[in-house]
Amino acid sequence: MDLKKIVYIISLLVLLILPPETKVEKMQEAIKNQHSTSQTSNKTSGNDKVNLKPGGGWGGTQGPVQSLAKLAESQGLYVSSAKRDIKSTNSGGVSDHWTGNKIAYANDYAWGGKSPTSRSDTAASKIVAALGGPADWGKKGGNFRKVVYGIRYQVIYRSNVGGNHYNHIHVGAKKVGDKEI
Ligand SMILES: [Zn+2]
Repeated sequence: MDLKKIVYIISLLVLLILPPETKVEKMQEAIKNQHSTSQTSNKTSGNDKVNLKPGGGWGGTQGPVQSLAKLAESQGLYVSSAKRDIKSTNSGGVSDHWTGNKIAYANDYAWGGKSPTSRSDTAASKIVAALGGPADWGKKGGNFRKVVYGIRYQVIYRSNVGGNHYNHIHVGAKKVGDKEI
C-alpha cells in the first residue's frame, strides 16, 4: 500500500469520526486564520513601513522624520509645525525645530483638539513602535528617546516636557553619530 492510499484512508476515517459541526467549525477557523495572517503581513509590509535610513536635508534627519509622518497622517493628524525660528524649548534646551539647528528636524502632529484622542494615541504608538519602542506607548505617552542609524529621535506626547504636549505629538530627530545622547 503506498503513502497516498494511507493518507486517503486516514482522511476518510477522520471525516467519518468527526461530527459534521466540528468539520464546519474547523474549516471556518482555518479560513479565519488564513485571513488574519494575510492581514498581519499586509500591515507590516504596507502603509506602516517607514524608512529610517538617514536621507534628505538637515543632516539626513528630514527623510526619516517625513517617512514617520505617514503613521500620524493615516490617523487623520496633520503637521502643525516643522522647522521654525524659535531656538529654545520651554525646558531651556535647543529645539530640533530651530532653523539654526542644521543637523536636526522636527514635526509636530496636531488633530485640532486640546486633549489626546484614541487616534492620536494610535499615531503616537505607531511612531514609537516604528522606532523600536513599546507598541502601546501612546496610551501613557511621555518623553521617548532612541538612537537609530546615528540619529537621536525624541517623541513627546501626553507630557509637559518642553511645553504642552497634550494637544500635539512632537517627533524630533538630531544627527548624533555614535555619540551618546
Ligand atoms: Zn515639537
